Amino acid sequence: MEQNQIGKLIIVSGPSGAGKGTICAELMRQMPDLVMSCSATTRAPRPNERKDRSYFFVSTETFLEMVRKDELLEYDQHFENYYGTPKKFVVDMLNFGKDVILEIDVKGALQVKQNYPDSILFFIEAPSEEALYERLIKRGSETEEKIQIRMARNKLELAQRYKYDYCIMNDDVDRAVAEIIAILKERRK
Ligand code: 5GP
Repeated sequence: MEQNQIGKLIIVSGPSGAGKGTICAELMRQMPDLVMSCSATTRAPRPNERKDRSYFFVSTETFLEMVRKDELLEYDQHFENYYGTPKKFVVDMLNFGKDVILEIDVKGALQVKQNYPDSILFFIEAPSEEALYERLIKRGSETEEKIQIRMARNKLELAQRYKYDYCIMNDDVDRAVAEIIAILKERRK
């Protein structure tokens, strides 16, 4: 890990269904100088997802090869699938002076913070368990059983939020994004 990087890592993390994706898209729209990292995953693409944009969709064999070659900044297993952040792109961008957003789960976020203590960690919280459940249902991509597994994991993730630099309540996307932007601008001073 190169500690002399100029840019900062911005980690947007928290339970699945809390609205991290929407928040990141809006952050990128309002702060076009930010760069978004694209994760690798072994999960199958959802109908609305774009190859090499939403994720690099890879086989388990390829993913484990990336792990073996130390090509990932962090990785985690989530619902039978692997997810990880390709290291080279992120390190290159940081050294180039860019701030890079990672949208990752809680375990990954805490791994990154350990290696890059300068990272800024945002925990995105849904207003209630019911709201989280509603969002996962609306997504329409998961069976009830998988949603229940995600909800159980969400509880464990929620218990880790005190380890984050900032908790952002996503009861209103515009307000949540404005809060993050204000923090980032303050941190850049
Ligand atoms: P989904 O299957 O809904 O796209 O993602 C499941 C979970 O994996 C989400 O919480 C998402 O933020 C997380 N995730 C996505 N990419 C990465 C990554 O590169 N590393 C880690 N640790 N988690 C990730």
